[in-house]
Amino acid sequence: MTKNDSKIVIVGGGFGGLFTALELAGAGDVTLINDEDHFLFKPMLYEYLSGEVEAWHIAPDCRDLLEGKAKFVKGLVNAVDLDARIVQLQGGRTLSYDILVLAPGAVNNFAGVPGAEQFSLPFRSLDDANHLRRRMTEVLDRIPPDAAPQDAREALTFVVVGGGASGVELSTKMADLLRDAVKRRALHGEPRVVIVEMADRLVPGMGEEIRKHVDVALQETRVEVHTLTRVVNVGANTITLEHNQRQTEMTTSGVVWVAGVRPNPLLETLRVEHDRRGLIPVEPTLQLRERPEVFALGDISFYPDVAPILAGTAQLAFQQSHLCAQNVRAFIEGRELKSKHFVELGEAVSLGTEHAAVLTGGKAIGGPLARQARFALYTARLPTWHHRLRVGASWFFEGTTPRPLQPLGF
Ligand SMILES: Cc1cc2nc3c(=O)[nH]c(=O)nc-3n(C[C@H](O)[C@H](O)[C@H](O)COP(=O)(O)OP(=O)(O)OC[C@H]3O[C@@H](n4cnc5c(N)ncnc54)[C@H](O)[C@@H]3O)c2cc1C
Repeated sequence: MTKNDSKIVIVGGGFGGLFTALELAGAGDVTLINDEDHFLFKPMLYEYLSGEVEAWHIAPDCRDLLEGKAKFVKGLVNAVDLDARIVQLQGGRTLSYDILVLAPGAVNNFAGVPGAEQFSLPFRSLDDANHLRRRMTEVLDRIPPDAAPQDAREALTFVVVGGGASGVELSTKMADLLRDAVKRRALHGEPRVVIVEMADRLVPGMGEEIRKHVDVALQETRVEVHTLTRVVNVGANTITLEHNQRQTEMTTSGVVWVAGVRPNPLLETLRVEHDRRGLIPVEPTLQLRERPEVFALGDISFYPDVAPILAGTAQLAFQQSHLCAQNVRAFIEGRELKSKHFVELGEAVSLGTEHAAVLTGGKAIGGPLARQARFALYTARLPTWHHRLRVGASWFFEGTTPRPLQPLGF
């Protein structure tokens, strides 16, 4: 196998896969396969929901990013034959490889809660954010201008399940958006956004410094926090919660499920070692045990030397992509492969439409300044210089004001 004739196939165009493809472009015959045309910068999906950013900012087209330096195939990989070294796509197309990089990410975990998968809204893609925005707008549109405050509040009850960073970012964003819409439409009353968490506190992995800002934001946005609470059932317009062994049913216009993930179902088709959570354990070089020509990274892999706080994050997948690309090159060229200790790059959470909190160097800042800092930080993490420049210029010159929930057809 020589440098230029190695067939490198990368499955998944997210933080792990896309950034590996960008670094490997030119190292061989590189093909990136993704089931969407675009990459998605998921940490800013909340800003997309609120209209602070546009789709092109956070979901650039993979072909544009690769600029012809690597091939792109849009398709869903549904099987990999590791012995024959063949990747199979939905529809029957196959691609053979010399080196395979697996990075298809995670999917929602509804934890077997009855009705959760059927009735709750996921929040992982542009489509998911569009559906949620539309649902909030439709609910607002149905409220008569003279509705009593308690009726408006009941209609505007949304429940976010999962009290991790995602739940906090989403619930504060939704509360601000809905409150703004109520005001603009001169409705009476206010929205009710509820966050439900099984543990005794929200954002358990978050440091105390940044947590103070989270607590203030939850209070200011008037998000209702239910800890030590379990979701028992989700219905078309209801959610049943259990707290202290007592069950209560709440009427709701939408349940958004951000209560955990599980590895991509593609992994179940792979006859390789899985850990008890279904993740693929990888060597410190990101290679699969007994399959040195296969690399795995991001949300599907279990890397031995990672602080628990980094597991399942974009920060980790992003850092791994650099190691992966380096090691794929070394593998092709017969050089020694490397390992790396990954570090926490800091924390940045969006808190409503006006505020954020950012932790760098052990110090946390909050408020509108932190919101600006978060935008600046994330501009630097977007893929390719060209895209970063365009987005940075757009945010700087055109601003990042939220787009109100206007009546549909407006
Ligand atoms: C709303 C949200 C907010 C987040 N915020 C943060 C944050 O602030 N900070 C942080 O560090 N992490 C955050 N995360 C987690 C972070 O996004 C993930 O850990 C990270 O994206 C993992 O990278 P990955 O490459 O493993 O998977 P992904 O980035 O999810 O990429 C996987 C890609 O593979 C594609 N794919 C899936 N299956 C197939 C298939 N069978 N065939 C072809 N393509 C396939 C998917 O469409 C996707 O494009 C957030 C996640 C979400 C959902």
